[in-house]
Amino acid sequence: MLPTPQSSVGPGVPIEFTFAPLIEISAEGAYVFGKINDVSSNVLHSVQQQLRVLEQRKHDGKAPCPPIPNTRAKGCLWVWMHKATGRHRWTLDAPSKYTCATCFNARRACLLYFGEMKWMILPLPPAARTDESWEDAGYYVHQGIKESDKYFPGTWEQSRRAMGS
Ligand SMILES: [Zn+2]
Repeated sequence: MLPTPQSSVGPGVPIEFTFAPLIEISAEGAYVFGKINDVSSNVLHSVQQQLRVLEQRKHDGKAPCPPIPNTRAKGCLWVWMHKATGRHRWTLDAPSKYTCATCFNARRACLLYFGEMKWMILPLPPAARTDESWEDAGYYVHQGIKESDKYFPGTWEQSRRAMGS
């Protein structure tokens, strides 16, 4: 998809990027996307906030170079822009297909670069979803009271510290 002349996410958001909520990956491996305009305002707000942080980091000369990740699996937007890929924790099942532990714990939409200037909003792993429909916030950002990934044992990779090395 070509970049739209006006950002679909809102004012202040770089127009060169597009964002699409990942609904599921089909049995054949096809990525099924929804429309950014149909996601919950909570999720959209989280995307906008992260882009504001990215703009600020660019302004401060702290943004990573190159300006977009080289590969899809290197890390989500948050981890990438903080140059912290070594601390990244994906789900044990289908890594890089679901929200990372860092974003889950921060109640943040996890954005992963798909290519062609497009970022995916990754869904929560099914066990951690509080909503069934991708148009509801709890499909992407945990809305429950379980405050960290340790309440979902076996879902995410453990941190190195937790593994004792
Ligand atoms: Zn993340």
